[in-house]
Amino acid sequence: MNPENIEIVLVHTTHSGNIGGVARAMKNMGLTRLTLVAPLEYPAPEANWRAASAADVLETARVVSTLDEAIAECQFVVGTSARDRRIPWPLQDARGCAERVAARSVQERVAILFGREDRGLLNEELQRCNLHCHIPTHEGYSSLNLAMAVQIVAYELRMLALSDKTGLAEDVDWDTPFSTSADMARFYAHLEETLVEIGFLNPEAPRQLMPRLNRLFNRVRLDEMELNILRGILTETQKASRRSK
Ligand code: SAH
Repeated sequence: MNPENIEIVLVHTTHSGNIGGVARAMKNMGLTRLTLVAPLEYPAPEANWRAASAADVLETARVVSTLDEAIAECQFVVGTSARDRRIPWPLQDARGCAERVAARSVQERVAILFGREDRGLLNEELQRCNLHCHIPTHEGYSSLNLAMAVQIVAYELRMLALSDKTGLAEDVDWDTPFSTSADMARFYAHLEETLVEIGFLNPEAPRQLMPRLNRLFNRVRLDEMELNILRGILTETQKASRRSK
């Protein structure tokens, strides 16, 4: 496991105290890389109070305005969620998720996303992810406090670091780097554009086609070479379709 490659990303946090609580939970467990996507109020004294001796994590935190910016360079993205969503996605509990994250982090940049206090992560944000993580709470009340959710995931990573059982990823010796989130976003835009052009996707009634294709490619994960091949196929498809029109 390489904690330097593990980024905790808080999306649109409302209560700045929670940001401090997250920083503390991270430092306690040996994580230091924190990114804040458009926090409502930050910097804020409540964040510093709650961080206690983890002020350094806050000081080095990256503040960005969009999720795209936060995860652009990441090759493996995990989204945490208190609820089931419309389309099922590959799902793990905190322990299973920590195993995957620890293994990927040896060679890849990994992000773990945590959502808003009131609404969690939006569907379109969860669809950016390779894996979803649900902490199995009691059925009666599934929503944990944000910092406590981070604490649990960070603790599972800590336990793996201590046992040095960071697990070998099945693709650790892959010959080509895996695509980043930014490259995948460009690919999805190109795919959508092409599907509209050839009449396969009706923009008036898109239904769940793009989320399903997102899920497909995020599940297999494309390396850079595979992504280039598919981009090439899309470009030629567009040319052929324009010629025939
Ligand atoms: N009402 C929101 C809950 C938000 S809690 C919802 O329905 O999604 C704030 C954040 O804490 C969530 O976005 C998620 O990142 C994390 N979290 C809370 N409970 C969780 C759980 N049981 N499993 C995984 N993450 C959880």
